[in-house]
Amino acid sequence: MSNEVELYIENFMANLIAKNPHEKEFHQAVREVVESLAPFLLKNPVYTKLKILERMAEPERVILFRIPWLNDRGDVEINKGYRVQMNSSIGPYKGGLRFHSSVNLSILKFLAFEQVLKNSLTTLPMGGGKGGSDFSPKGKSDNEVMRFCQSFMTELQRHIGPDTDVPAGDIGVGGREIGYMYGQYKRLRNEFTGTLTGKGCNWGGSLMRPEATGYGTTYFAQEMLKTKGDSIAGKTVVISGSGNVAQYAVEKVTQLGGKVVTMSDSNGYIYDADGITTEKLAFVMELKNVMRGRIKEYVDEYPGAKYFENERPWGVKCDIALPCATQNELHGDDANTLIANGCICVAEGANMPSTAKAVDVFIQNKILYGPGKAANAGGVATSGLEMSQNSMRTKWCSEEVDTKLQSIMVNIHEACVENGKEPDGYINYVKGANISGFLKVACAMREQGLV
Ligand code: NDP
Repeated sequence: MSNEVELYIENFMANLIAKNPHEKEFHQAVREVVESLAPFLLKNPVYTKLKILERMAEPERVILFRIPWLNDRGDVEINKGYRVQMNSSIGPYKGGLRFHSSVNLSILKFLAFEQVLKNSLTTLPMGGGKGGSDFSPKGKSDNEVMRFCQSFMTELQRHIGPDTDVPAGDIGVGGREIGYMYGQYKRLRNEFTGTLTGKGCNWGGSLMRPEATGYGTTYFAQEMLKTKGDSIAGKTVVISGSGNVAQYAVEKVTQLGGKVVTMSDSNGYIYDADGITTEKLAFVMELKNVMRGRIKEYVDEYPGAKYFENERPWGVKCDIALPCATQNELHGDDANTLIANGCICVAEGANMPSTAKAVDVFIQNKILYGPGKAANAGGVATSGLEMSQNSMRTKWCSEEVDTKLQSIMVNIHEACVENGKEPDGYINYVKGANISGFLKVACAMREQGLV
């Protein structure tokens, strides 16, 4: 790295940190992008002169609000609500809502910043945003979740709309939560529009939206493997998480002939040497989506498997790793262990699951590494397809949506190759995704003037 590039990065980050102190996840996400864009920006001063990246790192708007609700005992509870409207230069704000006790502004700004580049990569007309609450649905009754969602939407509805901002699900926000929020939105606004995505299939939801992120991540891994003349068939795959993204990643890997041997939640992971078959996955889906149980209950049903309390699955020998739980769940030492155990491909279903150190390890060892903003973009892309279907008042069949999803993932992969190929032939997908995502947004910002 030249001195000029290093100086640019350090100045950029010093300013960002001074303006946004204590937001370490936000700093981490921006640093990764600045590091890969700096050489390009310095060669193209039109972007630095207009301070395009500085403007992209400042949300257009942040909405913060109070969410009062009553628990089942009749006590008053109060949570914080947020919506970060990051960038609307290529379309309405679009990005998920996260309900988890860890939610804060730093996490939502990192997610919103990544979302802008990810949405640009999908080639669909969507800006970027993210929101949520420090409310955790875990351990709450359906009625409590409903009352919370209604209170959350009572405020959020003022700030969103089909042409303004279209939220979706994320951690802690699945079909149940989207249903309660959409019901309240419709009641208050007296309109039936595509303002939320991830809706139920009978009331405006797209077929394949639940599957899209996990399937898309697997398609992306398959594309990366193809560049080496390889495929998922016959490979051993380690997956973290057991929520929406993880479940459908397991399903698609299994359909493509891979063997998934782990799943996890925030308490630990299970290892099933025989593989998590379709039948076993159906049990996990019932356990997680209906019973709302813990992954350790898998070993009660399948005693041949083992449960590891408070551990993450990265020490299990595998060919492919798909982190699908949460940010910073895979550290530098985990990355070294994966590589020592022969892992050749990592595709991120979660957002920023690998720490900066882990990313360095993957790239230095030149393995196939697909960062979340490229590898998990299938989810938001299919949300974009849901928006199109809602606007057209139509519904596409599963095959049609899946074909579009696959072709979007292939195109994202191609864009990463185009902008990420190093002189020695190694494809740096981080650089490729960041440059490709940036260019479209930057061009729109230039053309729309200083707004
Ligand atoms: P879910 O809430 O359905 O599942 C999340 C899973 O991750 C659960 O198994 C959960 O375990 C686990 N998890 C959550 N927090 C932690 C933690 N701190 N440590 C360890 N495990 C944790 O969420 P999704 O599957 O929708 O989202 C997973 C990831 O994928 C997130 O990073 C999200 O931003 C990203 N993503 C999701 C998309 C979507 O379409 N849903 C689209 C693109 C990215 P537990 O039950 O114990 O909390």
